[in-house]
Amino acid sequence: MSNKQNDILEYPLPVDTHLHLSLGGDPFANAQLQLAAGVAVVRDAGDRDACLDAVAFPPALTVIRTGPAIFKKGSYGSFLGDNRELSLSEKIAQTPSSFVKVILTGLVSFDDYGKIGPRQWSLEELSEIVEMAVAVGKKVMVHVNSDKACRDAVAAGVHSIEHGYFIEPETLLEMAAKGICWTPTIAAMANQISDPDKRFSATQLAIIKRNAARQLEMIQFAHENGVKLSIGTDSGSYNVPHGKTFLREMELFVEAGIDKAEVWRIATDNGWHLLGRQGERRLKLSRNQPLVALLQQSRKILAKP
Ligand SMILES: [Zn+2]
Repeated sequence: MSNKQNDILEYPLPVDTHLHLSLGGDPFANAQLQLAAGVAVVRDAGDRDACLDAVAFPPALTVIRTGPAIFKKGSYGSFLGDNRELSLSEKIAQTPSSFVKVILTGLVSFDDYGKIGPRQWSLEELSEIVEMAVAVGKKVMVHVNSDKACRDAVAAGVHSIEHGYFIEPETLLEMAAKGICWTPTIAAMANQISDPDKRFSATQLAIIKRNAARQLEMIQFAHENGVKLSIGTDSGSYNVPHGKTFLREMELFVEAGIDKAEVWRIATDNGWHLLGRQGERRLKLSRNQPLVALLQQSRKILAKP
């Protein structure tokens, strides 16, 4: 006898679609932390001047790298970007995978609600970057905040929106229609609420909470309206530890109002879809298992030679 409660659900292994192995500690150790957490595939979203070229990662972890991010010299992003004297087309051609990371805007302000660091590329410039990438068979993931910049990124034809703080429902509906993925990196904001180093003032903490609450609402809206979401942790950023943030990001998706089994699907199927690949090894879970069961099972599979 089976009922819906005991249905066995199958998923490929978990994918983190946005992190930084070069940040927040030694890259090899960071990769090991991912495996120990049960994450099988990671997309590295930018390493300064291709510093990860020199790292031999543990073979069990599939590492897909965008290489250094494309940003405008003098703007936000030098710590994960390309500071070398190369042309745009050279930078695009040299990314070590079929993905290109572009930084379109700066960070979300913690002092001024809704304020975003300066814009780096016009719609025309961004469209040109996307065209150049597509011409050599690559996809563009764009670091972007503010609705206006997100809308321009969608118009430019990018393949995924990364962060997307302050995005509006209409822009999300357009993304759903165009099949553009969204990696909302909610843990990277929500984690700051705990403020372990007492970095933030009461005013800043209130803004951080408001940012996180708004993003959770948009995640729910996006899910209900058919936007393909993915789990991207932005691990390596301040107070976003490698490994354990994957579960945290999944938990926040549940907090946004998404059913647990749907979050498993987002953490696995959607990640593979975004990468344009298929995962062969399968995890089997019943609906009544806790969220962490997905990662426990994956960890066991990854530990096998
Ligand atoms: Zn990032």
